[in-house]
Amino acid sequence: MTEWLTARDVASLVGCHYITVARALESGELHGHQRHRGGRWRIHPDAPDVWVQGGDSAAPCGCSNVVPFRRPKGTAA
Ligand SMILES: [Zn+2]
Repeated sequence: MTEWLTARDVASLVGCHYITVARALESGELHGHQRHRGGRWRIHPDAPDVWVQGGDSAAPCGCSNVVPFRRPKGTAA
């Protein structure tokens, strides 16, 4: 069972502000899951590392094919 992170968890892990994480999630830059718009984000525990390195943060999640957000093409791992 994956232990999902919240946006606040990611903020403290990466050392940036919660708002920065929230904006990245909203834009799709950081891949996360939200049950409904405005709901609590859940982020795969490996995604923050990939995100800060500029990689495809959907890859650790395993759902690169299910992308509800815009994402640059050609960045597949
Ligand atoms: Zn995912």
